[in-house]
Amino acid sequence: MQADTLFTQSALKRFFGFNSFKGDQEKIIENLLNGKDTFVIMPTGGGKSMCYQLPALISEGTAIIISPLIALMKNQVDSIRGFSEDDSVAHFLNSSLSKTEANKVREDIVAKKTKLLYVAPESLTKQENIDFFKGIVISFVAVDEAHCISEWGHDFRPEYRRIKQMIRGIGDNIPVMALTATATPKVQGDIQKNLGMSDAMVFKASFNRPNLFYEVRPKIDAPKHLIRFIKERSGKSGIIYCLSRKKVEEIAETLVVNGIKALPYHAGFDASTRSRNQDMFLMEEADVIVATIAFGMGIDKPDVRFVVHYDIPKSLEGYYQETGRAGRDGGEGHCLAFYDYKDIEKLEKFMQGKPVAEQEIGRQLLEEVVAYAETNMSRRKFLLHYFGESFDEKNGEGANMDDNAVNPKPQVEGKDDILLVLKCILELKEQFKAKYIIGVLQGKKSQEINSYGHSAIESFGKGAEKDRNYWMSIIRQTTVAKLIEKEIETYGLLKVTAEGHAFLKEPRSFMISLDRDYDKIIDDSIITKENASAGAVADENLFQMLKGLRKDMAHRHNVPPFAIFQDPSMQEMAMRYPVNKEELMNIVGVGGGKAAKYGKPFIELIAKYVEENEIERPDDYVVKSVANKSGKKIYIIQSIDRKISLDEIAGNKGIEMDELIDKIEEIVYSGTKVDIKYYIDREIDEDKQEEVFEYFMEAESDSIDEAVEELGEDDYSEEELRLMRIKFLSEVAN
Ligand code: ADP
Ligand code: MG
Repeated sequence: MQADTLFTQSALKRFFGFNSFKGDQEKIIENLLNGKDTFVIMPTGGGKSMCYQLPALISEGTAIIISPLIALMKNQVDSIRGFSEDDSVAHFLNSSLSKTEANKVREDIVAKKTKLLYVAPESLTKQENIDFFKGIVISFVAVDEAHCISEWGHDFRPEYRRIKQMIRGIGDNIPVMALTATATPKVQGDIQKNLGMSDAMVFKASFNRPNLFYEVRPKIDAPKHLIRFIKERSGKSGIIYCLSRKKVEEIAETLVVNGIKALPYHAGFDASTRSRNQDMFLMEEADVIVATIAFGMGIDKPDVRFVVHYDIPKSLEGYYQETGRAGRDGGEGHCLAFYDYKDIEKLEKFMQGKPVAEQEIGRQLLEEVVAYAETNMSRRKFLLHYFGESFDEKNGEGANMDDNAVNPKPQVEGKDDILLVLKCILELKEQFKAKYIIGVLQGKKSQEINSYGHSAIESFGKGAEKDRNYWMSIIRQTTVAKLIEKEIETYGLLKVTAEGHAFLKEPRSFMISLDRDYDKIIDDSIITKENASAGAVADENLFQMLKGLRKDMAHRHNVPPFAIFQDPSMQEMAMRYPVNKEELMNIVGVGGGKAAKYGKPFIELIAKYVEENEIERPDDYVVKSVANKSGKKIYIIQSIDRKISLDEIAGNKGIEMDELIDKIEEIVYSGTKVDIKYYIDREIDEDKQEEVFEYFMEAESDSIDEAVEELGEDDYSEEELRLMRIKFLSEVAN
């Protein structure tokens, strides 16, 4: 195999419809095509799959892709099939297949139709499979999620340890590619050693994800704020992470009760429930999935618009991996974490039974999490620093994409108060925990303080005018700055470090960030809504119609919607109005295969839309400005979804019924379905309904005047007819 730049470029366009490679994709692919072992470290969403998909398609033989989760293989296979006219191009082989299905897969491979074969590590270890692979041409082996090899990674899987042996069993000189989104040097070394690819060329991409917005909010009234946050993003996909299964179920239920299409996911459910809920999320039948961290590895849904950590995570590594599931298509991705120091204390308590060494690691990881949550610097800078990368918070890509940049925390000089804390700790001979120290500073006359005689020491009552939260925050921030340390062996006694002693000798300015005023945060967070998805505005009506069509097609073909077209492709369609196959293929993400397989209904829809709305199609990018759905309309749609009576909706918005019906008509005529059956069933009896429905079915126009004339104004009011017309249009036309 010899790589040829022009050839890989044109293959990228031909198979995937992309015009250029992302990051180092091209070099990576060429390295592999030249028969060399290749190690790819790229953050989630960086485009790792392309690094093996494209070379697999253009190489002789079949590539074996090792992927850890059976549940996700179907998705990956669907997604690659979407780009090809022939489904045999990709298959998976795992224990979920029947004998007949597995035989069909083998036949396709032998017939040289299959370019990519996804295999679970446990299937790879089966002798019959190894024997089979020996007899065919294997172009290369790719090990996805390769960090599963390392005990130091966060998803260790023992089966991964045997991969090298398996590859050796299949043949000599098979190039190996390892891919992961976990970057710590320790894990990296483990992977290379274990796969026997120490000489591999390593491609390590920047971990910066400039389209993600990072935000941490104090965990006060969290369910309410979570609901508000989700409703501001109505109809968009999101993942909510909780630490316990109980919390997952509780939050999912709360969301559902509040009219949000949410489903729970955790390892306690049986396999079929898990895969059903996951599929419903992927198929966009549920907007939100509430999950433990058991959910998400390898989730390839590119348009997850938000990831919320309802509970603070145990490590920044996990946090970054989880937030990385947002905005993989490069579009908007809002990462919100709720932070309460009590959650940290809970996590520390869980560790107490464990071996000291493990506690030590756990504590260090938690300290980083606390520091991240409490930092007032650019969060992106903080995270990238953690992964060994520097970031220019003024001009770097993704600058100003976090709450601290948009809405800096108020800061005050903390020097004097820090001195008070340090002195108090020393006066108490470093034998007490934070709570007690604060009690002394505040001059609390508790029984404990009295019995130790600590109401007599100098520090007693020195900090009486400030509240407990303030002192807690001072102690945490000085801990992060390493002036004091918390001893884990003694369950949290505070000690003054050498640096703390130096500070006492020579006090210096030390700015402390105060917790923000919560209401202000809510208001300000609205600014952050329109972050990443800047740029040209597409025709929102058409975009919604394309989405509807995509959903229908997804059902018909039984594949997830994004396997048909991804959001960026459809946004471009809603801007450039392609009406034939050639034009469609000029849209980003649309190659020949996709255009042939799914293009027709889309082109037809667009052509019809262009004609009906007398749109002058731009030869080039001409940005159309389309009025957004007003807030009122969104409110109406949401209320109708929740089956709120129309009178009540009108009342809530302070408008007459007439005007409400006007608005609903506008919504329906712009192509959005609204289901008002619940209301009509209550207001209009069935016979009448049927008659009006039949009338519209046969009528030449949808004019209400004509309907009144035909049906008689004594029997039917104008309001009834208009309501029925809405129902009719929604059910039949939209
Ligand atoms: P990873 O496995 O690294 O998390 P994926 O392979 O799932 O990421 O890719 C993330 C997204 O990037 C996908 O939606 C994919 O279609 C898109 N993508 C990959 N390569 C390109 C490219 N060269 N141009 C445009 N989009 C790309
Ligand atoms: Mg991937």
